[in-house]
Amino acid sequence: MTDKQPECLHCQRTSDQVPLVHLVYASQDYYICPEHLPILIHEPKKLAGKLPGVENLAGHQH
Ligand SMILES: [Zn+2]
Repeated sequence: MTDKQPECLHCQRTSDQVPLVHLVYASQDYYICPEHLPILIHEPKKLAGKLPGVENLAGHQH
């Protein structure tokens, strides 16, 4: 199994550097720091390529 260190999807900082929020998506574990969590909420398309399938998320509509 992988023992890859959890790191933010967006900035690749690890839990040594920032608190990380644990996400489970398509049965995979992902982590994102609070600084970048709003991107996932509001502009998930910006994470396309980092979070597989995220382009299917509409994001928060204003
Ligand atoms: Zn981050």
